[in-house]
Amino acid sequence: MWQLVFGVRPWKLLEAWCKFLTDHHRRAISKDTWAQLLDFAWTVKPDLSNFKDDAMSAWPTLVDDFVDHQRKHNAANNHSSNTEINQACSSNHRLLKRSLGPDYRQLTRRARRQLQRAGVSQRAVQAVAAPPAPAPAPRNLVSNVSEVGIRDAPLKPLFPDEPPPPKEGSPKLRVAIVGCGLAGLSTAVELVDQGHEVEIFESRPFIGGKVGSFVDKAGNHIELGLHVFFGCYHNLFRLMAKVGALENLLPKEHAHTFVNTGGDVRLLDFRFKLGGKDIGAPFHGLKAFFTTDQLSALDKAQNSLALGTSPVVRALVDPEGGMRSVRSLDNQSFSDWFKGHGGSQGSIDRMWNPVAYALGFLDCDNISARCMLSIFQFFATKTDASRLRMLNGSPADRLLRPITDYLEARGVKIHTRTGARDMLWEEDEDGRPRVSGIRMTTAGRERIVKADAYVAALDVPGVKRLIPEDHAWSKRFDVFGKMHRLSGVPVITVQLRYPGWVTELGPKPEKHGKHGSNPAVPQRLSSDPADPNAAGRGIDNLLYSADADFSCFADLAITSPVDYYREDQGSLLQCVLTPADPYMPLSNEEIADRVHKQVLNLFPSARGMAPVFHSVVKIGQSLYREAPGMEPFRPPQKTPIDNFFLAGSYTQQDYIDSMEGATLSGRLCAGKIINAVPQLAS
Ligand SMILES: Cc1cc2nc3c(=O)[nH]c(=O)nc-3n(C[C@H](O)[C@H](O)[C@H](O)COP(=O)(O)OP(=O)(O)OC[C@H]3O[C@@H](n4cnc5c(N)ncnc54)[C@H](O)[C@@H]3O)c2cc1C
Repeated sequence: MWQLVFGVRPWKLLEAWCKFLTDHHRRAISKDTWAQLLDFAWTVKPDLSNFKDDAMSAWPTLVDDFVDHQRKHNAANNHSSNTEINQACSSNHRLLKRSLGPDYRQLTRRARRQLQRAGVSQRAVQAVAAPPAPAPAPRNLVSNVSEVGIRDAPLKPLFPDEPPPPKEGSPKLRVAIVGCGLAGLSTAVELVDQGHEVEIFESRPFIGGKVGSFVDKAGNHIELGLHVFFGCYHNLFRLMAKVGALENLLPKEHAHTFVNTGGDVRLLDFRFKLGGKDIGAPFHGLKAFFTTDQLSALDKAQNSLALGTSPVVRALVDPEGGMRSVRSLDNQSFSDWFKGHGGSQGSIDRMWNPVAYALGFLDCDNISARCMLSIFQFFATKTDASRLRMLNGSPADRLLRPITDYLEARGVKIHTRTGARDMLWEEDEDGRPRVSGIRMTTAGRERIVKADAYVAALDVPGVKRLIPEDHAWSKRFDVFGKMHRLSGVPVITVQLRYPGWVTELGPKPEKHGKHGSNPAVPQRLSSDPADPNAAGRGIDNLLYSADADFSCFADLAITSPVDYYREDQGSLLQCVLTPADPYMPLSNEEIADRVHKQVLNLFPSARGMAPVFHSVVKIGQSLYREAPGMEPFRPPQKTPIDNFFLAGSYTQQDYIDSMEGATLSGRLCAGKIINAVPQLAS
């Protein structure tokens, strides 16, 4: 039966698993083992190096026993490989010991030749050179929550202090959080870590908000949007480390990739080595902008002039001062600021518009200079900030489930399909309003939820519905009234599954523009179908385009293979359509067809292929519109109502509307609640 099930997508340990069952477990398999084995097969490496046997991992006992058995077996094999090497090349023993690195490829060429002559196989060397070891952290990324800290964050206000552990006997609050996006989840994690009781209420049938995903009837993972993680997302990395999800991030090559008409692929390449040494910020950024072939020589020179006179330069010596200067540019569009500093329209058209669309779903004429320059500042000051990472699979399984597992293990209840209808409130003897409950509806049934503190962790349309403009609070308190000036930007995310590989640019890439002759373009070309992390052919990174209506896209079958690679199929492109306004009235079929035609324009070698599957997700109001002049309308996390707090990426925080911004807003919100525990408890 297992062999049948795994026939579709081979699992390297299948034979060992079946043998283990036959030899050691001739009984029925529990439902739990059936349910979890697939997850085990796709997430745990064949060498078991990333298997966690702590209580939080909670694998079925049979799986634990199998891992024990297999580890012993591997150890025995390593011993025999060791013996093979020792016997075969005793004369080379010193050389071998000296040159064995963690990998066969790290052997000196001379050592490899001598070993081959001695008849020692590469496999045998690897078995000794790379014995099962704890999973290494992805390059440049911490693996432990205590390793994520202020020293990594671009500046202090972007990484709140850890709250001190609660004093013994200090009161515990009941907190009701409305909205189960990243902001709500981040708030909840901080509060349960302080011992408070938390319940979360989410109107959708699934959690995660804009970073959510669900599985359709045919088993496809449908995402609400394409999500990439910048290397400066330290609040989010800290959260992921806490819940054991950090290893689900796959770091991509440190280059931003632009795809132009006709398969012409160009790079903004941050990889910088001098004399064999990696050179970091700010020099890697200067190198990237001076050498990018996405811009003409003149555009590059003008680009350098603009960036060289920006607050980014001040941030290099005075990050806080640089940030203040960046904030003060909120009233200008990026185009106005950039051209005012000597930048050219050519740079905007070929590079900055796709980037602005990807960051805020707006073009440079409509996005605030603050939004763009705050990200550039992080890129300039922190080497890893510009490096992208993507989840190895769907957000629901690889990001959100570890968080909800963490919360549920600590008693948090998450209610989906439960929407907040309105806030109940009363005035105390001093005339100050207090929330006295939230009216919730689940499948048409109403109930009032009561707590010591209430958090609205909503998106912009959600919070505006909960506290409408005519609400007494909006009239009485500026902060709620102003919130109604914020609005959301429409966006559409399209998935197209192809029968072959789209971004590999065909067997004769030199015919299709620069890509074929550009060895710098990071590609994943290995295709070992047994290893979901190595399969797939094409470009393994986020892709920007100035020549399509989707500003950014990625081949998820390559970038996030665990849930998206399918052996019998090819690319799964996920494209973000911005501006989405002209597409909103169109049917899903019409949208998918138009996107497909533009894909072929970018990748002529894919002509002749037609999508075998498509999905279209429209969000009428997604990110808050980061237009010039919007900053004063963003509310802080602490409101004038003592027991009512706000979280959400649209609230005041210095990251743009992003996963990191949402996580940071949750930490800030929890911090305000924790500071107010004595008053709230009374
Ligand atoms: C297409 C797309 C691509 C993106 N790409 C990236 C990216 O690459 N990198 C990045 O960092 N960020 C990206 N983002 C932004 C990121 O997803 C958001 O900034 C972040 O997820 C916002 O989290 P949040 O918790 O603040 O809000 P949301 O995720 O919007 O969460 C709010 C939640 O509140 C719920 N809700 C609303 N009203 C009610 C109610 N009355 N009762 C109960 N629940 C309610 C909603 O259903 C939702 O679940 C992208 C967003 C989109 C749409």
